[in-house]
Amino acid sequence: MATAKTVEIPVIWLQCATCTGCSVSVLNSVSPTIKNVLVDEVIPGRHINLRFHATVMAGAGDAVIEEMESTAQNEKGKYILVVEGAIPTSGTGKEYGSIGEHNEEPVSMIDRVESLGRDALAVIALGTCAAFGGIAAGEPNPSGCIGVGELFRRLNVTTPLVNIPGCAPHPDWFVGMVASVLLAGLPGPEDVDEHGRPKAFYGNLIHENCPRRAYFDEGKFAKAFSEPGCLNELGCKGPVTSADCPTRHWNNGVNWCIGSGSPCIGCVEPGFPDQLAPFYQKLTEEALPNIGSK
Ligand code: SF4
Ligand code: SF4
Repeated sequence: MATAKTVEIPVIWLQCATCTGCSVSVLNSVSPTIKNVLVDEVIPGRHINLRFHATVMAGAGDAVIEEMESTAQNEKGKYILVVEGAIPTSGTGKEYGSIGEHNEEPVSMIDRVESLGRDALAVIALGTCAAFGGIAAGEPNPSGCIGVGELFRRLNVTTPLVNIPGCAPHPDWFVGMVASVLLAGLPGPEDVDEHGRPKAFYGNLIHENCPRRAYFDEGKFAKAFSEPGCLNELGCKGPVTSADCPTRHWNNGVNWCIGSGSPCIGCVEPGFPDQLAPFYQKLTEEALPNIGSK
């Protein structure tokens, strides 16, 4: 339980072009539970103070927008910004997505992510849409959706950014990343891969740790879903996807995609879903070098 001596870490959680699946996934965190994350000290002496989250908070309207803005003004450089969902950039941006108003005019998601991002201690792009554009940026992408990293590059925002992709991301990846930042500070360049993903969670290919790997090596391939055998011929993207799903599993360790007979569809990779599609078509040799290059 947080006490008077506990250091409060303000968190602002923006939901942009999202299905809210990332929030739902994190709300299903088991160890610790989301109640423990929000009420207790997530690590000794540190408490996450969630100031703004459109889905979770009880408040609404001007009061919560003021709370969000006053956090940014009064605690510059001390709060963590979490962005869920891609950022629509077509037109002025606000035709496709806004958060709150100024002078009765909607404030675009571009402006919110930029201004809150510039003043944050660190930004976490949660989910593949926030990290790389994801489903929201799939062809033909009329709203011009992009990920946070691309927006920051365009607007020259230099705040440290960590990508926690996944469609949806595993709750452990998010909670683990937050705990790691509070314990040891921001990850260094050696702690993340070329896509800004923490190596602790995204350091190995699915294919390297897959329990069906022996089938692959022996050339035993499933021809239909639910058959034993490697799922390569059914479209598995495990050979080009980096995440710890084979060892971490999902839903409190109950199972994971390949464990339940479904090919990995590469949901944590840049270029998902377009570059990983068709999901149930075998990877071609030619396709391999392009995946993840976006
Ligand atoms: S099921 Fe997928 S990840 Fe597992 S061995 Fe086959 S191709 Fe690799
Ligand atoms: S196994 Fe593949 S598709 Fe399934 S959650 Fe992990 S990275 Fe995503």
